[in-house]
Amino acid sequence: MVNTAAASDSAELAQALASSRQEADELRAELEETNRGVVALYAELDAQADQLRKATELKSRFLAYMSHEFRTPIGAIRSIARILSDQVDGQLTPEQHKQVAFVDSTAAELADMVDDLLDLAKIEAGRVDISPAWFEMVDLFSALRGMFRPVLVNPATALIFEEPEGLPRLYTDDRKLSQILRNFISNALKFTPEGEVRVKATRVAETSVRFSVSDTGIGIAPEHHKAVFDDYAQVDSPVQKRLRGTGLGLALSRRLAVLLGGDVEVQSELGKGSVFSVVLPVRLVGSAPGEQHAP
Ligand code: ATP
Ligand code: MG
Repeated sequence: MVNTAAASDSAELAQALASSRQEADELRAELEETNRGVVALYAELDAQADQLRKATELKSRFLAYMSHEFRTPIGAIRSIARILSDQVDGQLTPEQHKQVAFVDSTAAELADMVDDLLDLAKIEAGRVDISPAWFEMVDLFSALRGMFRPVLVNPATALIFEEPEGLPRLYTDDRKLSQILRNFISNALKFTPEGEVRVKATRVAETSVRFSVSDTGIGIAPEHHKAVFDDYAQVDSPVQKRLRGTGLGLALSRRLAVLLGGDVEVQSELGKGSVFSVVLPVRLVGSAPGEQHAP
């Protein structure tokens, strides 16, 4: 009697064991399948990331080649325009002078645009060389002053460089910083029908410096502040309609600022004016040979 009960108990136990083993097997099989699915998904994601990387690389390379190839013909157009306006091959009528000047200025604009595109493509491809060196702000400001003197065509707008005082020497890529400031200044001059454009440099902390270009121009409404640094962003305005440009200057400036370990900022009020700034570390980190020559 007792034996029979024990036998049926162990039979039940064995059955329960077998069924839970089967359940475990099924679960394992299901898990393995899920795992295989996840692995396949990862592989697909990897393949897609790879494709995306290749597409971005191709785009950057295409942009770089294209902009590079454009330079030579644009250079040729500008040289011919110069020969014509120098009247080497004969006199021009005043109207022809105007037309040739127009050809030259349009080609110059195209050249700027091609340069910006080439710079952007290089940054995206990670092929930009940063060449930092120690330099004085005063020298950079006087170089910029010289560069803008010939293009100050509007007598109603003054371009003022404030003497940088008490600033340390900087260790960064001065050509890239100059490129950022050139973009800010040319925008400020473009969007300031009258008043002034003021360039200054101030120390914001022990380790960083703020360069700002303020103007008394048309200003930018708050909802557009963030977008102006995007590629091809241009804010609609009556002034804008009369002017050309590609909308790449600020996008490039932001990328350059980030490469130099800093960032760009804008403050602006519609109808009152704008302040565009770039804040950079006094010394570009991770790259300071000759550090011992610091002031
Ligand atoms: P590009 O610099 O490529 O020749 P752009 O000057 O139009 O063309 P960005 O320099 O990128 O392009 O400027 C983007 C837009 O931001 C300008 O089109 C303009 O609408 C606005 N903007 C920039 N600077 C100022 C400023 N100082 N005052 C008012 N609006 C500005
Ligand atoms: Mg611009």
